[in-house]
Amino acid sequence: MRIAIPKETHLGENRVPITPDTAKKLCRMGADLVIEPGMGEGSGYTDAEYTEVGATVCSDRNELFSTADMLLRLRKPEMEEIGLMKSGCIHISYLDPFNEHELVEALRKQGVTAISMEMIPRTTRSQKMDALSSQANLAGYVMVMLAAAKLPRIFPMMMTPAGTLKPAKVFIIGAGVAGLQAIATAKRLGAKVTAFDTRPVVAEQVRSLGASFLEIDLGDTGETSGGYAKELTPEQIQIQRDAQKSFIAESDVLITTAQVFGRKPPVIVTRDMVEGMAPGSVVVDMAAETGGNVEGSVPNETVVINGVTVIGQGNLSNEVSCDASQMYSSNLFSLVEDSWDEESKAFVIDFEHDILPGCIITHGGEVTNETIKKVLAGES
Ligand code: NAD
Repeated sequence: MRIAIPKETHLGENRVPITPDTAKKLCRMGADLVIEPGMGEGSGYTDAEYTEVGATVCSDRNELFSTADMLLRLRKPEMEEIGLMKSGCIHISYLDPFNEHELVEALRKQGVTAISMEMIPRTTRSQKMDALSSQANLAGYVMVMLAAAKLPRIFPMMMTPAGTLKPAKVFIIGAGVAGLQAIATAKRLGAKVTAFDTRPVVAEQVRSLGASFLEIDLGDTGETSGGYAKELTPEQIQIQRDAQKSFIAESDVLITTAQVFGRKPPVIVTRDMVEGMAPGSVVVDMAAETGGNVEGSVPNETVVINGVTVIGQGNLSNEVSCDASQMYSSNLFSLVEDSWDEESKAFVIDFEHDILPGCIITHGGEVTNETIKKVLAGES
């Protein structure tokens, strides 16, 4: 099976889909691995590091796409790239299928088997393939680093002959994978950390990291069978906003990571709450690129509102691209290895598999994913 790895073309993207370590494992499994020149450059890997472990290099990007049985990459394909792919080609990447309807339609029409990394079911067995978790984990760390760099204070308490400095107060809203890592990172730096999440099960996890959990009675919230938060009613959102307001005003740093799977992120911090923070405070809105948890945050920009720095940077794991590449590459490998047939040396599409049907979006000229079928039909 010919597995091709094109170079990521998105401006500023330094993560790479496959590291030389993973390339070696794929070649050992019997894959005919071919890379585009410079594919590993963003994370500091040379072409030679890939060829040394058995990969070949193809400098004609069109040929790379049109001869591939499988394409492994990070970002979704460009429209014009889809037309180059063979019918039956397996394409694995982030795909954003909830929003990218035209792309899904083009992949279906081309007969491509498109696997979406975002849609890998979050089961115990699939943890090693879970790129949402691996990248969110790093994003949680990066958000605290960005906030610490902008805050005109230090995070830990410091008792010195020149006086005692109080620890910074950090408030984290949304304690999923990214939020929990942000809590752990801010704690390691010595901050006084408090967090809130709508899933009651999270309170214990927050406390086990040494942080406090802000109790807000929102009535019935719960979580879906997949472990995700349920969407709050407008009344519940209002209760949450009111209960957080005074707490936000007293915080030096506010980090928001609230997401509702397949929906626009909730706006949980209004502009007046940002304006109510002391000048010099810092807000990091992890959801800025997809609509924002914080009113006034701007995607991929840092703005100042009433003396408060509001960071809306996206693609946070790209800031630590070497580790992000290593983890994403490992996620991809685990997915491929799990369905690899040693005899035919090929990836086997099996709709009885416990993980694949959940993340295959199109196959054999059909949209096969039940969730995305409903989204496309306007039922979800
Ligand atoms: P996510 O990115 O969808 O959401 C981030 C957090 O925002 C979640 O904790 C959610 O509860 C919270 N949130 C939503 N609305 C909110 C609001 N109004 N206010 C405050 N918080 C709000 O979630 P995620 O980090 O990708 O994962 C969520 C959960 O999924 C995990 O904590 C876990 O339970 C489950 N999960 C399971 C596995 C596994 O078993 N393999 C892997 C990863 C995640």
